[in-house]
Amino acid sequence: MIRNDWKIEEIQEIYNTPLLELIYRAATIHRQYNDTGEVQVCTLLSIKTGGCSEDCAYCPQAARYSTGVDVHALMQKDQVLEYAAKAKAAGSTRFCMGAAWREVRDNRDFDRVIDMVKGVNEMGMEVCCTLGMLTETQAKKLADAGLYAYNHNLDTSKEYYTEIITTRTYNDRLETLDNVRKAGISVCCGGIVGLGETHADRVKMLHTLSTLPEHPESVPINALVAVAGTPLENNQKVDVWDMVKMIATARILMPKAMVRLSAGRATMSVSDQALCFMAGANSIFTGEKLLTTPNPSFDEDQAMFNLLGITPREAFKEEKELVG
Ligand code: SF4
Repeated sequence: MIRNDWKIEEIQEIYNTPLLELIYRAATIHRQYNDTGEVQVCTLLSIKTGGCSEDCAYCPQAARYSTGVDVHALMQKDQVLEYAAKAKAAGSTRFCMGAAWREVRDNRDFDRVIDMVKGVNEMGMEVCCTLGMLTETQAKKLADAGLYAYNHNLDTSKEYYTEIITTRTYNDRLETLDNVRKAGISVCCGGIVGLGETHADRVKMLHTLSTLPEHPESVPINALVAVAGTPLENNQKVDVWDMVKMIATARILMPKAMVRLSAGRATMSVSDQALCFMAGANSIFTGEKLLTTPNPSFDEDQAMFNLLGITPREAFKEEKELVG
């Protein structure tokens, strides 16, 4: 049953279930709602890098931190489409374009992004963007251009959010998610493990996600990649069991969502990743870079899929199932 009325205590109980039992429960639910032999393959490209005015403590692209990120202005449409074609040829079905902006402005850059969205959509890929805050009108424009999904993460709990970001509020985030929903765009929203948050914060974030009026269609679970020069540079590496716990709990709370094993995969072994797939993860990002941090290559992922007997999920599967 899909529920949007989860109580914090219930989520806490799930989250604290002994690990093997938790994985078993999540795997059982995963089998009921999803084809466990397939994993969605998404590619994320940074179309505008660095120089961001925000102060997200984990982010190497914030202008105020000295991280050595190669700053570049908004890419040209043709370059982006070339990259998307490469990703498609490598088996990717969703192409996500990320711009290091606080919010979308109604200017020529936005017009160019609209053109990119149209171009990727015409290639038959699910097109996604992550561009910062968005008004309802801007969301509508993106939807009209063929945008399939919009990513906007909550990152952590409302309570811990102010320790990580001070240049915008949790409510700003929720408002953008609402604007995306109103425009009929699929919502991609998750968080990051390893920011220094408590287990209670993780539970609270999952509570916010799983009690939204509609669950996000995609829930990325990221492990912090601690980058030198950011305030979180000395944070400890996230334990794989923390990722498994988060993924399994998200799977149980939001049975139909694509739970994405996102940042942090580059330092995970194939067996670590297999555990995450067993716990209900059914989406990954491929491509050597995840915005600015390392990620396994297309070939490494192909080898992992072959080993584990996983096939990539086809594009627009949800729509096809709805049509019958
Ligand atoms: S996470 Fe996004 S909004 Fe925050 S500093 Fe990085 S690019 Fe800017």
